[in-house]
Amino acid sequence: MTTEYAEYPQDLQEAIQFHGHICPGLAIGYRAAKAAQAHLGVERPKDEELVAIVESDGCGVDAIQFLLGCTLGKGNLIYRDYGKQVYILICRQKGRSVRVAAKPGHFRRTPEQEAIFQKVLNGQATKDEEAAFRAFQKKRVDELLAAEESALFNIEEIAPDVPSRARIFKSVTCAFCGEDVMEPRARMRDGKVACIPCSENYNRGW
Ligand SMILES: [Zn+2]
Ligand SMILES: [Zn+2]
Repeated sequence: MTTEYAEYPQDLQEAIQFHGHICPGLAIGYRAAKAAQAHLGVERPKDEELVAIVESDGCGVDAIQFLLGCTLGKGNLIYRDYGKQVYILICRQKGRSVRVAAKPGHFRRTPEQEAIFQKVLNGQATKDEEAAFRAFQKKRVDELLAAEESALFNIEEIAPDVPSRARIFKSVTCAFCGEDVMEPRARMRDGKVACIPCSENYNRGW
């Protein structure tokens, strides 16, 4: 671990290492994870007691995965493609759940900042513009980390809608590519079992 991030709390430093960089998205995910955890009074789970529902697939989700142990592979991370900074944490054991929603405006940029941001994304920024971008991102991260929780989020306890536990499904073999696919994802093509990519090729052009 470089000392570059030594100013941050240990768990955030580790989350940065997991994610690859520090950015406002990771910072808000970090704050959301801490807020949800504190609200429910829970620890990072060993297995599946906690379930997180995330409503965007941005950088913040990596903080949720790292801090709360809710991961795609374990089946206790559910992604809803709503494009919102909303994080729901469910504790099965306690039968409780909390919804942490970012208040509006945390990711707004001025037109000048937006122009630099686009250049950086397209690899067309000058050295000075890159430095300005990094300074702006750093300032925003620091603001997000220092802000009062009530300024960042609307937090409410909601009725837990506990999704069924991750299940293990039987595999069937696609008749077209020869690869296995879990049964509930299998399709039929010409009366034979097909995986989704093979059945989609079939549909193309119809
Ligand atoms: Zn990021
Ligand atoms: Zn196939």
